[in-house]
Amino acid sequence: MNDKAQQRIGLFGGTFDPVHFGHLRPAIELAEGFALDHLRLLPNHRPVHRDKPTATTEQRIAMLELAIDSQPELLVDSREAMRDKPSYTFDTLTEFRAEFPQASLIFFMGLDAYSEFDTWHRWQDILELANLVVIDRPDAQLSDWSANLLNVQQQKHGDRVVDSPFGVIERREVTQLAISATEIRHCIATRQSIDFLLPDCVKQYIVTHKLYQQ
Ligand code: ATP
Repeated sequence: MNDKAQQRIGLFGGTFDPVHFGHLRPAIELAEGFALDHLRLLPNHRPVHRDKPTATTEQRIAMLELAIDSQPELLVDSREAMRDKPSYTFDTLTEFRAEFPQASLIFFMGLDAYSEFDTWHRWQDILELANLVVIDRPDAQLSDWSANLLNVQQQKHGDRVVDSPFGVIERREVTQLAISATEIRHCIATRQSIDFLLPDCVKQYIVTHKLYQQ
């Protein structure tokens, strides 16, 4: 555990519908690799009427909690998911900055998400609040725009998130697992196996609650 001034908190946002090993293995590698005090998995808010069939917010949180049960360095933070309206990463990071004024905040995202970072609400301000670590994902490419932003930020703030409180964008390799929640939902709907794509406890939850069947 780092002392308060050097506390390092990781944040990993997503829909997690459902959580799978493509989220969990990188999460562990990142928590270890950056010596994080903890890494928070942040399920986002999702309107109930979108993208049916889909798990409810409570079910997505329940599956995350089951998945990380034996991993003390991983936490589920449901503040975004439980809001009654969509919320922005900028607002969430502002809250974290107020809660942990001295900590280094590291926001993790897959390369596919980072390639669309310029569409995020107040993305420039996000870079004033936290560092970003972009993890590779099979088949995802760095767009010209996002490669350029990475270079600009590294010239201003350096290339190692551990040396700066905010502003750095660093790429980090993790074990590549070509798994997506879309593929898992498709397998269930077409009655194919989802073994070895996600933890057994999450699979059991999906079976018990008859999720993603249509
Ligand atoms: P969907 O298929 O429903 O879009 P997903 O599998 O991409 O879902 P999300 O919950 O949308 O999962 O992803 C949350 C975060 O995890 C994003 O930053 C995404 O890039 C990253 N991520 C998801 N799957 C992987 C994977 N297999 N490898 C690396 N990063 C991943």
